[in-house]
Amino acid sequence: MSVPIIQEGLYIDGQWSAGDEHLRVINPATEALLTTVKGGDQRAVDQAVTAASAAFAQWSKTTGAERGAVLRKIANGVQARRERLMHVQSSNNGKPQFEAGIDVDDVIATFEYYAGLAEALDVGQDRVVELPSEDFAARVRREPCGVVGLIVPWNFPMVTTAWKLAPALAAGCCVVLKPSEVTPLPELELAAIIAESGLPNGVFNLVCGTGLAVGAPLSADPRVAKISFTGSNAVGVQVMQRAAETVKGVSLELGGKSSLLVLADADLELAVELASGGGFFNAGQMCSATSRVLVADEVADEFLLRLTARAEAIRVADPFDPEVEMGALVNQAQYQRVLGHIDRGLSAGARLVCGGDRPADLPHGYFLRPTIFTEVPLDSALWCEEIFGPVLCVRSFATEQEAIELANDSPFGLVASVVSRDAVTAERVANALQAGLVWINAPQVIFPQTAWGGYKQSSLGRELGPWGLQAFQEIKHVIRAV
Ligand code: NAD
Repeated sequence: MSVPIIQEGLYIDGQWSAGDEHLRVINPATEALLTTVKGGDQRAVDQAVTAASAAFAQWSKTTGAERGAVLRKIANGVQARRERLMHVQSSNNGKPQFEAGIDVDDVIATFEYYAGLAEALDVGQDRVVELPSEDFAARVRREPCGVVGLIVPWNFPMVTTAWKLAPALAAGCCVVLKPSEVTPLPELELAAIIAESGLPNGVFNLVCGTGLAVGAPLSADPRVAKISFTGSNAVGVQVMQRAAETVKGVSLELGGKSSLLVLADADLELAVELASGGGFFNAGQMCSATSRVLVADEVADEFLLRLTARAEAIRVADPFDPEVEMGALVNQAQYQRVLGHIDRGLSAGARLVCGGDRPADLPHGYFLRPTIFTEVPLDSALWCEEIFGPVLCVRSFATEQEAIELANDSPFGLVASVVSRDAVTAERVANALQAGLVWINAPQVIFPQTAWGGYKQSSLGRELGPWGLQAFQEIKHVIRAV
């Protein structure tokens, strides 16, 4: 399949056009230039927000059923182009085809789920509110909050977008989407599907470009009611500061430093699979990576032996290799960042168990071997900071309480995993962990029905589920004298 190439980086008011900002888009597995996307700047943002503001008057008055029908069309369009989207996802991001397939299926499920919630809105609208007085009657409405700006990163292109876009459209908001300048191609393909879905012009707009040229003016535009952002903490703070000037709503999905806890009675084969998935899926470029692996003293040596064998057997290869297990990191900058973390970890005295460099058979591309450290100092960057690469730190613990304290000792609190044969213990530990989502004996499965987001500096608000929809709604009560 040849790589589908959309070079026009602006979709505004129902029209495709090329902006003046040239974004070089590469294939991280080959380092070759895929294409140059012609993105925009402040002027394009201004045009997109103008179009979205004009469209809001009509779109905000549509019924939930009408909006649900459009969302189902988008889901069907994504389904129909599943192969093509998988191809673009792997080409631009470097992730294996099977992972790209999971991404596309998640996008379909998300649009279908929010189609259902949009339809249900009509039933719940104007619900009567019981009052402790016979002199007044009240009803409650949920209304779209306005024009919203969606800013997303490069690690799960299309998926992070779907988690914001589907509920925003379901709520009746009009959207300006800014994809990552590193991975604009999946969002461009998604935009092409949306363009055929029957949405009125201006309801959905896309502006490709850099953070400073597009993300910053979008966060500052006074006509934008809300920014939903996924990315790094440093940028999240900047977005929040800009949004503060016009008291915009802000939802943030930021970094993580999550733990996987292997209790003494754990099924070790399962624990190894879950640790491997939590650390090496998407080449570890996951906000939810369980990069701290905490293992009970009794099984620590045996677990580390098995995990090391598993990591060394992982087939790192081109994303289109039929036997690939782990693909490439997304670009040169991320590759260097992760190698820098590995170097600093060694300087801090951590012990490298395996990995730490590129596979010998892959001289080109941003490939890294799955990497495991032990004896990682608790005050080192390797232990404390988000690495966003295929690097696990394994540490043993003596008691359940110690494991919980180690896991919670972080400014982040996105997710956690617990592996134990004892359901009561596992549930007790899950309840004690400061994380928005805890998996017990399960891989990192995510359902549109369950919320995404975390404690502390990992998130502000929640995505997915009804919470994801509420993030784009205002609540209005009407009280009438009777
Ligand atoms: P990033 O913060 O560098 O960029 C994210 C987006 O913000 C990009 O579209 C970028 O162009 C834009 N941006 C950059 N500067 C901006 C500015 N000044 N104003 C407005 N927008 C700006 O993050 P990244 O490197 O693309 O992604 C990796 C980060 O994303 C990691 O820290 C990871 O933890 C986080 N992440 C979090 C989640 C989650 O759900 N919590 C999911 C995926 C990724």
